[in-house]
Amino acid sequence: MVILVEERLTNCPFCKQLTIKVLHQPFVARKGLTKSRFGTGGPVYNKEKTEVLSGCSACGKSVKDVDEELNRGGKEIPHAERLKRLQEAGLPTKIESKRDR
Ligand SMILES: [Zn+2]
Repeated sequence: MVILVEERLTNCPFCKQLTIKVLHQPFVARKGLTKSRFGTGGPVYNKEKTEVLSGCSACGKSVKDVDEELNRGGKEIPHAERLKRLQEAGLPTKIESKRDR
């Protein structure tokens, strides 16, 4: 069985140019090959994943930079951004540690 892996271009997370070459592997579930007669092979799952193959030729980011940026998936908000959002929400951003002693 051949796992379909396709090479495609995606946008650079930094400069938004379509320059990043990635290998996209869709989610695949297949039966494991039983190599022994005792049948150790259960179903094998290949998670969908995207492997970054090239850096950006437009802004010069490396494979590692692009990979980290893409895989971060916007889950983590940078500290500065978080502060900004707190300020916009009208929440106090200063944490004062008062010690009554
Ligand atoms: Zn770029």
